[in-house]
Amino acid sequence: MSESPFSWPRLRMRVEKDEELKNRLLKSLSEMEARQSIHVSDLIFCLREAYFRKVNPKPPTETQLSFFVDGRSRHQIIEALHGGRREVRIEWEGIHGTPDLLDGVPIEIKTTRRVRNGHPNHYLLQLGAYMVMMNMNEGRLIVHRILPRHGEAFECYSVRFEDGEDERLKRWLLKRRDLLKKALEKRDPSILPRFYDPFNSNPFWKCRFCQYKAECEAIEKCVSESVQPVEKRDD
Ligand code: SF4
Repeated sequence: MSESPFSWPRLRMRVEKDEELKNRLLKSLSEMEARQSIHVSDLIFCLREAYFRKVNPKPPTETQLSFFVDGRSRHQIIEALHGGRREVRIEWEGIHGTPDLLDGVPIEIKTTRRVRNGHPNHYLLQLGAYMVMMNMNEGRLIVHRILPRHGEAFECYSVRFEDGEDERLKRWLLKRRDLLKKALEKRDPSILPRFYDPFNSNPFWKCRFCQYKAECEAIEKCVSESVQPVEKRDD
């Protein structure tokens, strides 16, 4: 049959799902995420989840792989557009971190589907952590809003600590580090707080895609059962 160059040929090909290929991607991500050392993100987000990830690592889900690929590729393009040193590893007091960019000061890039302008508190905590780890009083934040309704798609901020806030953040990070270390040494996640974001209308937003929900709820159940109601006295 002669093929017309004005239309697409319909090829006869056998197309089969290749689960092995997908599993290879998932396995690579799982190996990238397997880490025993304490990282800034362990301390900023949920200490309990960080504990479970180290003690009982689970293979990532496809949703996590999708978020990772999406976020990483957007970051790489913004990093390339900006220039500067990418993903430099830093360490301070046994805490590891990787700011997205270094250009004299650390630069953190956040991609979000939130439509409201502004910057959630945890963006500043993470950037602030890199600033104190590098003993700097200045950093930059780039917020890439994928679905801007009324505002800008890119918000860029220069960030500085107000008086004493860097020392306050250092103390907070070190206390969180010590608490996580203690839980890991004692193999006891119940001493760690649950994730709670007091600045978000859904303070438990991190729990939505958490792989350790069952383990976490088991701890909550034990805690609530161990708090016995006080018996009513007649006298
Ligand atoms: S369910 Fe929420 S509080 Fe519990 S480990 Fe996961 S993120 Fe943390």
